[in-house]
Amino acid sequence: METIVAASGNKAKIREIQEIFQGFTVIPMQEAGFLGDIEENGSTFTENALIKARAVSEKLGCIALADDSGLCMYALRGAPGIYSARFCGRHGDDKANNRLLLEKLSDETDRRGYFESAVAICFPDGRTLTASGRTFGVILPEEHGENGFGYDPLFFSTEIDKCFGIASAEEKNAVSHRGRALRALAEKMRAEGIL
Ligand code: IMP
Repeated sequence: METIVAASGNKAKIREIQEIFQGFTVIPMQEAGFLGDIEENGSTFTENALIKARAVSEKLGCIALADDSGLCMYALRGAPGIYSARFCGRHGDDKANNRLLLEKLSDETDRRGYFESAVAICFPDGRTLTASGRTFGVILPEEHGENGFGYDPLFFSTEIDKCFGIASAEEKNAVSHRGRALRALAEKMRAEGIL
């Protein structure tokens, strides 16, 4: 069975990728021997996913898959977007990111937004394929629940009528941006005869 190296160490992401790409063995990049950091200096989710997948594929000569995602608010002209993880200035401080988001939306009536995920797969011969997915909702005035991560406690999904902070992993995965992007990528690979 061929291996896909995921440009991520996140166990939940690896599991989600493995479920969709069942004809492959999916392993994290650390297990494949890629230990360095990759600078994500693209200006779109797709560019960042491609940068990561390319870096791993070229260094290890393997099939590599990467994703990049974030929250986009209409009233904030797409922010925090690619800066979602470090909206407050520090990488991965979810509480401070959520506080800043509420502050920025405090005078806005339009609280609609979506999570977007872009995925990219690179093959050793240089071929690449990309796909993306979105899931829609509104930002609540305060946090609800402790499930998920990032902006989940503020994101009320208008697709499942439940805040992602309260939804189970199964409920969220059914409509998740990453799942949609991965399924769209699998569809493209099937069309190319790769899957
Ligand atoms: P990543 O590219 O998946 O690591 O996501 C970057 C950032 O976007 C995260 O640190 C979160 O702030 C935000 N984000 C992406 N996906 C989600 C999600 O499903 N729920 C909540 N926050 C998310």
